[in-house]
Amino acid sequence: MAGVVAEAPGGAADPSLAEEAVSMHESLTGWLEVNRAALEAVSGMRGQAIETQVAEERELIRALDEAGWTRRGWPADAGGAGGTAISRAVLYDRLAAAGLPIPEAFVLLETLGPVLTRYAPDLARRHLPGILSGRTIWAQGFSEPDAGSDLAALRCRAEPSASGFVLRGQKTWTTLGHLADFALVLARTGEPGYRDLSAFWVDLADPHVTVRPITAANGRHEFAEMFFDEVVIPAGHLIGAIGQGWEIAMYLLQYERGMYAWLRQAVLHNRLATGVNLMNPADHDALRAVGSAFILLTALRRRSWATVEQLAADLSPGPEISVDKILLAQAEQAVHDAVRTIGAAAFLFDGGEEWSMRRDEWFYSRASSIFGGAIDVQRNIVADRVLKLSKSAR
Ligand SMILES: Cc1cc2nc3c(=O)[nH]c(=O)nc-3n(C[C@H](O)[C@H](O)[C@H](O)COP(=O)(O)OP(=O)(O)OC[C@H]3O[C@@H](n4cnc5c(N)ncnc54)[C@H](O)[C@@H]3O)c2cc1C
Repeated sequence: MAGVVAEAPGGAADPSLAEEAVSMHESLTGWLEVNRAALEAVSGMRGQAIETQVAEERELIRALDEAGWTRRGWPADAGGAGGTAISRAVLYDRLAAAGLPIPEAFVLLETLGPVLTRYAPDLARRHLPGILSGRTIWAQGFSEPDAGSDLAALRCRAEPSASGFVLRGQKTWTTLGHLADFALVLARTGEPGYRDLSAFWVDLADPHVTVRPITAANGRHEFAEMFFDEVVIPAGHLIGAIGQGWEIAMYLLQYERGMYAWLRQAVLHNRLATGVNLMNPADHDALRAVGSAFILLTALRRRSWATVEQLAADLSPGPEISVDKILLAQAEQAVHDAVRTIGAAAFLFDGGEEWSMRRDEWFYSRASSIFGGAIDVQRNIVADRVLKLSKSAR
């Protein structure tokens, strides 16, 4: 069913972005065709231990870096090749369209990289080349046991010291935390509330950091908890200024919700298209499920491409980014529900590579309405700040 295959990313309102998208698309597509078999041989898969998957993905990143692709879309003075988020979006889209994974490390790169390049150019210069070449992995240390949706309630604290800051506290649900080399940690540097928060770059190899993996419902160590026991942070590892943590978190969330939604829709198109290849065309339940999922996915693709264009033009999507997050959660779960309907008994009982991966993805898709901002909270943001509905109108 060719209909569930995504079209190539379309034009952009800004002619220079449109040109960048087309140029990246054409050159990359040709290169992927020639190198696809070699890249498949070094590509990790979900459905196996995350440690193995991430180790394999480092090889894929290395191969992409050697050919110069991972550096496109990042600033030249931070080790990139110039260009905008449009180039990165095309890279992710074409990787997924070719059936290759988008490395897990790049989800964190897309979340943290824009923050580093904007608020801490020195750190970006030092650290971006590491992640772009597969040598390092980063983590995002926002959530705490009693501060998830209510991020302003976080208690992890950084006190000024002679050499910089001393960090104490705990973070949890840190994706790839136990495999990461560095984390961006949001910590309190003053009074309770959202104003006195600051962001720090933390070296997780520090002996005063303890990281423990957490096992998710799919059996994998998707995330970890991190403990900071008087970790000395050099002054140069402050990101932005003291008290700028909330602004930085809001800037970051535009990428965590917007670019991540784009990246996931690319993967989801691949999963739906390859799932449809396994479908019995006489299975009406499966056809219905595929149709519903494809509609949501198409809406997500259109919406998140427009968001990527805004990010590339350095325009702030603001609270409307919550719409992308809601669409993503719905599409992600609908696609994996459709695949489950297609598979029927195979989804439940087949222990082979294909269905192990799809089962694993179905479990993970349940979390898409939680991470990056729980969906109920996103709906409230849309009601309050986008539609400006009065409480009584809901
Ligand atoms: C797979 C996965 C990966 C993650 N990776 C990271 C990571 O790398 N780094 C990181 O910092 N965090 C990460 N998180 C944590 C994630 O950001 C939080 O789980 C999320 O913000 C929700 O917070 P919480 O778990 O404390 O739930 P809570 O905030 O306690 O929410 C519990 C429930 O209450 C609802 N709720 C809460 N407040 C309201 C409200 N005001 N109105 C209506 N409903 C409300 C929520 O929708 C939810 O259903 C990850 C989570 C998951 C599942």
